[in-house]
Amino acid sequence: MNQEDAVTTLRSENEALRTENEQLRGELTLLKERLHVLEGWVAKESRQMDPDKHCPSCHQSLRGGERFCPWCSFNLTFACPFCGSQNLLFDRFCLHCGQPLSSL
Ligand SMILES: [Zn+2]
Ligand SMILES: [Zn+2]
Repeated sequence: MNQEDAVTTLRSENEALRTENEQLRGELTLLKERLHVLEGWVAKESRQMDPDKHCPSCHQSLRGGERFCPWCSFNLTFACPFCGSQNLLFDRFCLHCGQPLSSL
């Protein structure tokens, strides 16, 4: 390889790297935007979490409307002692017969 060839090779490599660099920069911008969206989503989701409601099995925070713990899949429903219908763990009253469930 003579010197001129070497310079040409280096130039084209340099050009390729520049193109790659620009592509990566574009991807980085996209990823940053996506991250921003995700961060907003996480902030929104964590606001919806009720700090008083925790899974009795793994003690992670819950929103309170889940049938199963999203963290450990613990069953968060139970049968009403009065009518036997399924209620969510954090319901204060049976949705079917209206009996208070707060003692549970
Ligand atoms: Zn759990
Ligand atoms: Zn009931």
